[in-house]
Amino acid sequence: MKRIAILGSTGSIGTQTLEVVRANGDIEVFAIAAGSRIDALEAQIREFSPKLCGVWDEKKAAELRLRTADTNTRVVSGMGGLLEIASEDGYEILVTAVVGMIGIRPTLAAIETGKDIALANKETLVTAGHLIMPLIKERGVRLLPVDSEHSAIFQCLNGEHGNKIEKILLTASGGPFRGRTREGMEHVTVEDALCHPNWAMGKKITIDSSTMVNKGLEVMEAHWLFDVAIDDVQVVIQPKSVIHSMVQFADGAVMAQLGTPDMKLPIQYALYYPERRPMAGGRLDFWTLGQIVFEKPDYENFKGLSLAREAGKRGGSLPVVFNAANERAVLKFLNREIPYLAICDIIEAAMGHHKIIPHPSLDEILAAEAETYAFIDRVLES
Ligand code: MG
Repeated sequence: MKRIAILGSTGSIGTQTLEVVRANGDIEVFAIAAGSRIDALEAQIREFSPKLCGVWDEKKAAELRLRTADTNTRVVSGMGGLLEIASEDGYEILVTAVVGMIGIRPTLAAIETGKDIALANKETLVTAGHLIMPLIKERGVRLLPVDSEHSAIFQCLNGEHGNKIEKILLTASGGPFRGRTREGMEHVTVEDALCHPNWAMGKKITIDSSTMVNKGLEVMEAHWLFDVAIDDVQVVIQPKSVIHSMVQFADGAVMAQLGTPDMKLPIQYALYYPERRPMAGGRLDFWTLGQIVFEKPDYENFKGLSLAREAGKRGGSLPVVFNAANERAVLKFLNREIPYLAICDIIEAAMGHHKIIPHPSLDEILAAEAETYAFIDRVLES
């Protein structure tokens, strides 16, 4: 019996993780946590009987505590609750599927206490990769990527132990606005941006995919996960998302991982690594597919991607600013407070305003995040 904990259990990755748990029948869910959706959490408590359930919102936590008083699940709340779940003995793999930099502290705490991490929260590596990666080594735990691209790269590296990666070819669908100019994206609405051509995902990541910021974050994530320079991570547009990513080795050989777009595959692969469990679902049909088309990314009209490369290359606290500015800007766009193109303009302004701290501590990371939020609020108010 494998035992896992899921942070972000009511989100897209969280619910699909629970589908994988249901389908396999030999995983115990030790703990779950989510922001505020207590109806969904109550249903998960009744189905999976976890020992602990974390709720970010204190009031909602109190309400859930009353509602589930007849169960054996203990409800904890806030960051304290997440940290308690992260540090608790009694499970082996922490699935971090929360959105945003909120994932950093629980991830660090789980590594400290010897858990393997199934990482679906890219902000953690993007902003704190220099703290996470050495700790992973020191504690001898595994960092199992759940993002489809990084899982693909991870799968391509099977049996390649020690062979040098020449280049990572990170594939991207290009999102719903591929081929458009900046002017052509001026009047994009929240509904337009939430319509991804291939993948069903949470709201924030769907907006990030449309701006290509998501791909930018993935470039930085790949840099940390696979120890390659930002310049050696090449983004390749492949609109149908059939190839999930590729690795080029020193002899020029390119390995690729292909499949239908279904996040349950990378989730299940991470939970059972290195075993491949059977999985129901679609299979690639090459006759229907006919061809696979490739394009160069458009760095001019999708400046989220070029800004991410810049943040990754200059490093230090700049990726924190890139990420925090995007988090805040996407929230404001979803609340219909700013137009679509302002998302990347805000990231650019915040990066331009920031003075880079070369090797930021956790406190400095969180301070840079807070300063970025404050800067954006100031700029938007004036
Ligand atoms: Mg991805």
